[in-house]
Amino acid sequence: MVEEWLARAMSDYNRASLEKKESYVASLHMPGPILADLVDWCFQSLPDEILVGLEVDNSKPHRDEVDELFRAGDHRFDLFAGQGFVIGEAHLVNRGDSYSVHHLPEEWTDGLFTESRGARGARFTHWLHTHPNAPAIPSGADADAAQSTEGVDLILGVDFSPAGPLPWYDDIEGERRPLAKDEQKGEPEAENADANRPRWRSRFFGRSDRRPVLGKAPTGHSIHGLELIAFHRSGVGINVIFVDEDGLPYGWPFLSDATK
Ligand SMILES: [Zn+2]
Repeated sequence: MVEEWLARAMSDYNRASLEKKESYVASLHMPGPILADLVDWCFQSLPDEILVGLEVDNSKPHRDEVDELFRAGDHRFDLFAGQGFVIGEAHLVNRGDSYSVHHLPEEWTDGLFTESRGARGARFTHWLHTHPNAPAIPSGADADAAQSTEGVDLILGVDFSPAGPLPWYDDIEGERRPLAKDEQKGEPEAENADANRPRWRSRFFGRSDRRPVLGKAPTGHSIHGLELIAFHRSGVGINVIFVDEDGLPYGWPFLSDATK
């Protein structure tokens, strides 16, 4: 079970994934509990970015009715490795700055790597890294790193406070996919909860120092927004759908009814 605020955010995200489905040539199903782990690891590793290897569960194909609902007119079959299977495992494999995070530590490329990956001994199918207090938009280094990915690359952007040395940086061009819009969701934060927040920030970005809070991280940080994108190395976007343990999208009854 994931926390209610996260389930709600995933449900909203899935609705947007459905509305925007014609912008994507394929989709990827991520279980909610894995997103919850990713958010926890992100906060435990601040101020670093983290790199996470994702493996699909070959015994869990996407459910047909979900694939049919989200399929675009120009859907592409067999675009990437693991396509059509739900993500089954996530492994935290590295942390570092926006450049070093992509360089796999030795322990993941030697015998230990083979052992933990089983007989296949291959790299992970998909890779995800975080952008603490920055939007989920690929940098040049991210695009380079994606060239050797057989599945897809994902970026999780997290907007939180207190921001510490990493004030939210959003002066970047690109497609944005918020999991939740901090302008509309959540409860107003307590008066003094943001005392450590740099004062210059609100002036610079025109944002309030006391923004709505979606949820709390185990580290005590207030989470104001989450963004997630996925892309194939060819540059096309991949639609992400958050699913529960039955393989059904969060918000499913509403999503499927909306099309009838
Ligand atoms: Zn990046």
